[in-house]
Amino acid sequence: MLRIVILVAATAQLFAQTPQRQRSVAITIDDGPAVNEMRDLGAFQRIARGLLSSLEAEKVPATIFINERQLNVQGQRDGRAAVIAQWLDAGYDLGNHAYSHASANRVSLREFQDDIVRGDVIMRPLMAERNRQVVWFRYPFLNSGETAEAHQAIMDFLEQHHYRVAHVTVDYKDYSFAGIYQRLLRAGDAANAEKVKQAYLDQIDPGFEYAEKASQELYGYELPQILLIHCNELNSVTLRDSIARMRKRGYSFVTLEEATKDPAYQRADSFAGNGGSWLERTAKIMGKKFTSPTPPKMPEWITALAPRRQQN
Ligand SMILES: [Zn+2]
Repeated sequence: MLRIVILVAATAQLFAQTPQRQRSVAITIDDGPAVNEMRDLGAFQRIARGLLSSLEAEKVPATIFINERQLNVQGQRDGRAAVIAQWLDAGYDLGNHAYSHASANRVSLREFQDDIVRGDVIMRPLMAERNRQVVWFRYPFLNSGETAEAHQAIMDFLEQHHYRVAHVTVDYKDYSFAGIYQRLLRAGDAANAEKVKQAYLDQIDPGFEYAEKASQELYGYELPQILLIHCNELNSVTLRDSIARMRKRGYSFVTLEEATKDPAYQRADSFAGNGGSWLERTAKIMGKKFTSPTPPKMPEWITALAPRRQQN
């Protein structure tokens, strides 16, 4: 009898608690297979392999967004295409990030459409051979058209071509750190490169915290996050540590497909303007301003080491 009473009391307490959502994140890596490695095939392969082996060791899914211009290097085309075949054979998903990384806000609609169409000429047959399809498109610079009309025309085009747009909620500007890290490494300044690497890893918690708080303010819960990082040398050597930090925050790892089932991603994207995460776009559409969170900033001592470069 006593046992039943305890059981009933325990069950009542269980239901009285607010249900805890499990934190989840889909990792997306842009500018693949290896940004800014247009000459050195060895560096290109090393970076791509570093990313792939980290994901495999951690057993987490990811979608890699490719700029196929990176594959189109005379004398290296087969070697470069082999890298994306390796991603596919390892079970990772690939998406179209436009052939030359053109910004929808800078080029004409026709030019942007061409950049999309040319964006998966190599990956599409490689995926078809493996009974897979190109599903995802990611806007370069997250720019999706400056005006409502331009944005609608781009969305119509993507829909006609059966693409789904991959949104972003967590973006701690890895590229700002990565450019400086690589420059320092190549200049032989390993000590400062190591400091930049540590500062980058320390950016992960505030980066996630910003997205978590923004999500709470908009939706009243934490949506499954979508992380944006890039295929660069810095991530090729830090990805396992980055994933460890995410696990420590309570994150489990899901595919883009799983993450985007959440109702928070079902709103039609009516945002026009400059870049911005899905949370920032939604806030603007809803006429809301975030009260507490502010996006994390890069430490000034790093900015002083080298000028920042715009990427995304
Ligand atoms: Zn990009």
